[in-house]
Amino acid sequence: MKRIYLDHSATTRVDTRVLESMLPYFNEMFGNASSLHSFGQEAAVALSFSREQVAATIGAEPQEIIFTSGGTESDNMAIKGAAYISSSRGKHIISSVIEHPAVLHTCRQLEKEGFEVTYVPVDNEGILDMQFLEDSIREDTILISIMHANNEIGTVQPIKEISELIRGRGIILHTDAVQSVGKIPVDVNELGVDMLSISSHKIHGPKGVGALYLRNGVNIVPIVQGGGHERGLRPGTENIPGIVGFAKAMTIVREQLETDSRNMQYLRDHMIKKIRSKIPYTKLNGHENKRLPNNVNMSFRYVEGESLLMLLDMKGVAVSTGSACSSKSQKVSHVLTSIGLGADYIHGSLRFTLGRENTMKEIDLTVGLLEEAVMKLRLMSPFGEEE
Ligand SMILES: *Cc1c(COP(=O)(O)O)cnc(C)c1O
Repeated sequence: MKRIYLDHSATTRVDTRVLESMLPYFNEMFGNASSLHSFGQEAAVALSFSREQVAATIGAEPQEIIFTSGGTESDNMAIKGAAYISSSRGKHIISSVIEHPAVLHTCRQLEKEGFEVTYVPVDNEGILDMQFLEDSIREDTILISIMHANNEIGTVQPIKEISELIRGRGIILHTDAVQSVGKIPVDVNELGVDMLSISSHKIHGPKGVGALYLRNGVNIVPIVQGGGHERGLRPGTENIPGIVGFAKAMTIVREQLETDSRNMQYLRDHMIKKIRSKIPYTKLNGHENKRLPNNVNMSFRYVEGESLLMLLDMKGVAVSTGSACSSKSQKVSHVLTSIGLGADYIHGSLRFTLGRENTMKEIDLTVGLLEEAVMKLRLMSPFGEEE
């Protein structure tokens, strides 16, 4: 059975070009980039080339890139690092109610340590309440962390507007761009951010590697102590094969973002239209246009998302309910709750996230299988359609 993968916001397949770029760095060029001999120099050259590639894709300078173990670490490092260094000026942080757990739980930890965090609400389509954000800014506000695009419903937030709003006020702006890189243009100067998190495995790179963009002149304190790697901000011997693969994945994003994003958006719109025409009692979650080109998050009334996921999985189609991050914790999605979705819609929600390798044929097959599964479950559902 040929399987269909529609869970690209959870993780992606490593691109063959990425894999090939990494292989020599496991055994031929295995050096430690800090060593002075030729083995070390090979690694150091790869590290510096990779830094240039990652920087070029987001419009940054190479020295503004700090390699990390991924999105979670970048978020922790940005938020804690900026909060600790600025705590003598103020202890107020602004974030949002729909952030990824890597941001949300970091903020909660800082609250335990004496910081105060305001969580800005979103409207029914998942867009940030800008007036609320503006009214929340205080004299002692030191940091704002708002995600660029949401991992569950794909809504894209007005980061540029936020940066314009706070310009010159001495507040550090961080954005989690883990989901937006590779799907929509991400340029640190266009967005006007001071810090930006990226993860390699969400863009067809290897797992366990990522980066934090840190604008020249913005200071943070390291949250891990050790040697002097990554300007002393992220000590530890560099993961050279991972970093090389991540950089290759970023280079591919730079080269084919336009094409990839156009194709994904075409498939996304086709899928939404087809589901709406074939399956009654559905609802698209998130914003109609201000959403990632690869995100289809829909609720199917009178069915359980988990049952739907299982039926599709048996047919070889991989999707997610709500968010992959919360699927193990069995909690109701905080994002779907935040957009005011009723319990019946939340329980019947599925997230399809497309990738550059998906085809129209796969989408059509999926919608057919989905229609079958929804009808089957609705027949068994205790709730009649005429309820
Ligand atoms: C996946 C994800 C993360 C975590 O990245 P990892 O590299 O898996 O640690 C953070 N934020 C968002 C929005 C994500 O989708």
